[in-house]
Amino acid sequence: MKVLVTGGAGYIGSHTTELLIDRGYEVVVFDNLYTGHVEAVNPKATFVKGDLLDKSAVDALFDAHKFDGILHFASHTLVGESMEKPWLYLRDNAVAGSNLLEAAARQGVKRFILSSTANLFDDPARIPITAEERIVPGSPYGESKYIIERYLHWMERIYGMAYCCLRYFNASGAHPGGHIGEDHTPEFHLIPIILQVALGQREKLTIFGDDYPTPDGTCIRDYIHVIDLAEAHILALEALADGKSRKYNLGNGKGYSIREVVNMAREITGHDIPAAAGARRPGDPATLIADSTRIQQELGWAPEFGSLRQIIETAWNWHKSHPKGYATGK
Ligand code: UDP
Repeated sequence: MKVLVTGGAGYIGSHTTELLIDRGYEVVVFDNLYTGHVEAVNPKATFVKGDLLDKSAVDALFDAHKFDGILHFASHTLVGESMEKPWLYLRDNAVAGSNLLEAAARQGVKRFILSSTANLFDDPARIPITAEERIVPGSPYGESKYIIERYLHWMERIYGMAYCCLRYFNASGAHPGGHIGEDHTPEFHLIPIILQVALGQREKLTIFGDDYPTPDGTCIRDYIHVIDLAEAHILALEALADGKSRKYNLGNGKGYSIREVVNMAREITGHDIPAAAGARRPGDPATLIADSTRIQQELGWAPEFGSLRQIIETAWNWHKSHPKGYATGK
């Protein structure tokens, strides 16, 4: 099977590419390298540098390859940034996504996997959050993903394209092989920031608020290992052979506070990791935990790296061996 991975040079895309190659898929990665790294792409994949906003580049991609499936990761992914630059998210996530869908429909691609987000659930009635929860996008970022989710519904109706929306909670960790991992510049995510403190690259962690209605006052998140996310993509791709579309929430079903994450990182790294409470970050909900029952029951997905220890250990292994990320850290 030949699959297109948009954003395959990014964090989750590169880990999924790795697994696809291991399973014998032929993979074409399309990435504009805006945040991705060519070094992250498995050399057995065909790499095409290009931008989904560039229709002629998208047409050339589909002229050169006939795809059996598409895994669409390419997007901006920061809630805070989307509140400051809503148009960037409308253009680069929604309009670029529409260019991809148009080309996919024209070629008659029948399987489409979308990287979606827990930011669709800004006002959950219950925690953990099930796949049936009411959709309330929490930001232009969440909205941009929801636009594509809605359009996939029409792609299915009009073109018979089966789709799967995977709504990730907090992607984290790194490939256990230690050769690929998380590398964002600037970095905004909790675990890499904590590990940068452990490496002496930052003085301390600022905890964004310790007055939330949680046991220790800090936000609770459901951290899910990037390899478990990647595995879910492959299961979904295979399941779509039956032509039925699906939507799944993906997390471990366990929440950890920021203080619990810091304590685990202290234990693993042996570093004090100074942390001080600061102001809340706008838009942060107190608690986000996934109920992934539906994907477990329907596809038999089960996390292999389900513990916070495994998540931080694999991330630490990557950060220690690549202190400057992909740049010069080999
Ligand atoms: N966080 C923090 N300090 C930081 C970065 C993140 O306290 O320097 C908090 C953030 O407010 C949230 C949690 O850590 O409660 C996870 O944030 P991250 O950006 O990693 O993921 P998000 O939950 O926003 O997707």
